[in-house]
Amino acid sequence: MSDNGAPGGIERRGTGGWDEVLQTEAHEVGPGREWRSELYRVALDQFSRAADVLGLDADTRERLTEPRRALVVNFPVHRDSGEVEEFTGYRVQHTLVMGPTKGGMRFAPGVSFGECAALAMWMTWKCALLGLPFGGSKGGVRCDPNRLSDAEMERVVRRYTSEAFPLIGPDRDIPAPDMATGEREMSWLMDTYSQQVGFPVPAIVTGKPEALGGTAGRRDATGLGAVFCLEGFLEQLGWEIQGRRVAIQGFGKVGAVIARELAARGARIVAVADVAGGIVNQDGLDVADLGAWVDAHRFLRGFEGGEAVGRMDVLETPCEILVPAALEHQITRENVNRLQCELIVEAANGPTTPEAERVLIERGIRIVPDLLANAGGVTVSYYEWAQDIQREAWRAEEVSARLRAQMEAAVRSVVAMAKEMKTDWRTAGHAIAVRRVADASELRAVYP
Ligand code: NAD
Repeated sequence: MSDNGAPGGIERRGTGGWDEVLQTEAHEVGPGREWRSELYRVALDQFSRAADVLGLDADTRERLTEPRRALVVNFPVHRDSGEVEEFTGYRVQHTLVMGPTKGGMRFAPGVSFGECAALAMWMTWKCALLGLPFGGSKGGVRCDPNRLSDAEMERVVRRYTSEAFPLIGPDRDIPAPDMATGEREMSWLMDTYSQQVGFPVPAIVTGKPEALGGTAGRRDATGLGAVFCLEGFLEQLGWEIQGRRVAIQGFGKVGAVIARELAARGARIVAVADVAGGIVNQDGLDVADLGAWVDAHRFLRGFEGGEAVGRMDVLETPCEILVPAALEHQITRENVNRLQCELIVEAANGPTTPEAERVLIERGIRIVPDLLANAGGVTVSYYEWAQDIQREAWRAEEVSARLRAQMEAAVRSVVAMAKEMKTDWRTAGHAIAVRRVADASELRAVYP
């Protein structure tokens, strides 16, 4: 008997009153619950539906849901005023089973460990669905990017990159743009990493300018991919794009490209919104004018070609196609019954809560799910990484043709799986992806 009374000299843990202690408020988070968040709950719900359809065993479920590795950093940055401010940054790698990890870097006030964990998991499914040789990751810095000057932004990006140095690398984890980060930030990231190792490493990051080894077509890839994907689903539904009314929430790197591409295909863009507010015009907004206005004034606010509305009102505008292209958690139990669309294209990650989704399904509103709708970004990021490694440069037409073919193939596989399993497109997409990762995980078995 050991001192604590356990037989065979083994000290038993988790007994002796620990259960009670762990249930007190001070232990609200609890062991193994570090990454729980509202978004992680949504990601888990979607995963569980696919796991149920596949009949996945409990061990595999657990192995595929908990992130494999994560980093939290707190670091000081000089503000322009001379004051020093502390920032918190994260990087979460969901699985190392499929290859190096790949995922965006976002700058937003809501960035948290749990949010990055959910987004990293979605990246895994997205890559697996598209057949890309990556696992998922995600990272970012909690800040309000609209309140940072260009110089402050650069210092935050560079310091975050050096803090993430132990985790990232061209064969380990490759960041990319996400909310409030773009080519400029990716250039600083690539330069900081290269300075640390002492030689240029273009493959450390994707979404960088072509002059630094970026690819033709990356800038528009996510928006264009969403449009290719939508075209694939419309073909299945027997719909024409011509004359369809479209409302888009978010007019950034993704939303603005979708607006331009759909308008060019004859759709009528009846509403757009950004963080500062929305604009509605049932006769159709002039997308080129909107783009020029935002280039000159940063926000849509003040644009005179339509009626000014609140940023959330755009979701409730009468239209056939609604495109959330801003951020997560936008279509919820609270507003779902007021939506007046027939099809939702989730260009943003996680815009629909599971509760709202159940209502949408009852109302017969179809959802083109995020893991497919916005996968064009990571697909072209993969092309960029492959070109960097091989020291090649593909032509824009080649990138676009490959993206179209890859998105169309993924749409076909999701539609076929949904029919076979008599389920919705999201669960079908997850099922394909989860099966692929589960198979790879089983083959690699448990080390040691
Ligand atoms: P971005 O920062 O370029 O644009 C975001 C847009 O959303 C801006 O117009 C901003 O003003 C608006 N916005 C922010 N908060 C809002 C709110 N509360 N209401 C209305 N509008 C709001 O970011 P992005 O790269 O276009 O990313 C948009 C979404 O697409 C995110 O969910 C991101 O994770 C997802 N995504 C992006 C990429 C990519 O390649 N950029 C790839 C895959 C997924």
